[in-house]
Amino acid sequence: MSQSPDKIRCDACPVLCFIKDGMSGACDRYANRGGQLVRVDPHLLLDRTLQQGGELVPFGARDDWDGRLLDDQPRFVTAIGAGTTYPDFKPAPFIISTPIDGVDMVTVVTEGIFSYCGVKIKIDTDRYLGAERATVRAQGEPVGHVTTVEYGSQMLSLGGVNHLTHGGKKEGRVTCETLLDLCNRKAVELTIDGGATVVVQAGRAPVVNGVAEERMRVGCGSATIGMFAQQWFGKVDEVIVVDDHITGVLSEHQAGKVVGVPATGIRIGGHKSTPGRYFHVAEPGAGWGGTNLSDPLAIIESFDPARAWPGLSLFMVSTTGEHAAYYELDAALRPVEKPMPEPLALSVARIRENCEPALCTVLFMAGAGGSLRAGVTENPVRLTRSIKDMLTRVTAGGAPVYVWPGGGITFMVDVLRMPVNAFGYVPTPAIVAPIEFTLRLEDYAALGGHMAHVRPASSLAGGNIQVQGAHEENPWPLNVPAPGDGRPA
Ligand code: SF4
Repeated sequence: MSQSPDKIRCDACPVLCFIKDGMSGACDRYANRGGQLVRVDPHLLLDRTLQQGGELVPFGARDDWDGRLLDDQPRFVTAIGAGTTYPDFKPAPFIISTPIDGVDMVTVVTEGIFSYCGVKIKIDTDRYLGAERATVRAQGEPVGHVTTVEYGSQMLSLGGVNHLTHGGKKEGRVTCETLLDLCNRKAVELTIDGGATVVVQAGRAPVVNGVAEERMRVGCGSATIGMFAQQWFGKVDEVIVVDDHITGVLSEHQAGKVVGVPATGIRIGGHKSTPGRYFHVAEPGAGWGGTNLSDPLAIIESFDPARAWPGLSLFMVSTTGEHAAYYELDAALRPVEKPMPEPLALSVARIRENCEPALCTVLFMAGAGGSLRAGVTENPVRLTRSIKDMLTRVTAGGAPVYVWPGGGITFMVDVLRMPVNAFGYVPTPAIVAPIEFTLRLEDYAALGGHMAHVRPASSLAGGNIQVQGAHEENPWPLNVPAPGDGRPA
């Protein structure tokens, strides 16, 4: 921190703001209060005895919450509100020792500044959102792209260092804002070139072209035939499950053959893959089963007069049960729509019942294998090795992370497992995200940790602290690694 008569310089990131008394810096995370540089947001601790999502409790609001009890009744010190180390050779803002079951543990916490970061989004929908590799935009700016379709979901990849740093200034700013909002659980409207407009919010249903998605598919068309063949047998002569990817035909499918469904002479368009499984019966879209079809009969080419018969019953349904229709062949073997028989209406309801609610999932992904490690140890590669050896546990706001195999510390975390508003930004632009490293004190010393800066949790007393209930589904980050957890014998 540098001083001038009426301003102080914040050196917590490369922007190096000069901040007047009473004002905050460009990121609103630091402020000048009476000539002191302060972190504006409270520093968050987690407590297993408090209800998750309950009211934030200011430290010191209860008489018994003194520094001593912080040590006696361990709370997990997250990096949320902890502050940032810049440049990185300085030790992390907090290196906290905690005795757990007779073992001295240490947690190194810092708010990492991530230029190499983004989000992976899973949108549960059968609707066509856009072609693979199509550009995804926010506020008109390119912020990412469409990746693969997974089972019942469309994946998007947003952010990354190229959008943050290689496009124009506006592209970087909008990308940063989009990532920040998504990570902090806000709704963001995205438009896909040549595709849909979708509103994405972590933990909420996607809204595709203004319509809230209700459910995922029960399976692909072929899987749906497999699941329900027995239930349809004897109630209808032919079933087609319409799907943009794999359309299923009961009489030809192995499941239909096993239960004894006779051939119907039906001929389907698209590419036949294996018996009863057809690819690409139509173009993708917002119609039946993620196709562009509003009339499913468009995929039927004909019925073979040698096998089909007048009165043959045909049931067509989509992979979510959102669309369904019943037909009988007339004398010319043309399908004529008829009221849905009760047993088939029940099977539509069964398909819908088996579809899980459609949600958006947002995973934050970032690389912590660079200079951030110097705030943890004087020998950064040892931190990387210690994580790979599972001696060091990595969490983000107390949430478990997945660390990718291979080099570096590339991690992913579900933002819904983290406390709300855990993320910030700096206008370089980059995302600020909490990261904690927890390990045994003896292991910390062995990897060249900043031992002179280790201090007990009670040293936090008097700071701007808040305590919140830990997420019930998260493992407690302070659990001592059990024997066989990767520790060398
Ligand atoms: S952007 Fe924020 S962290 Fe960076 S120098 Fe300014 S106030 Fe400090």
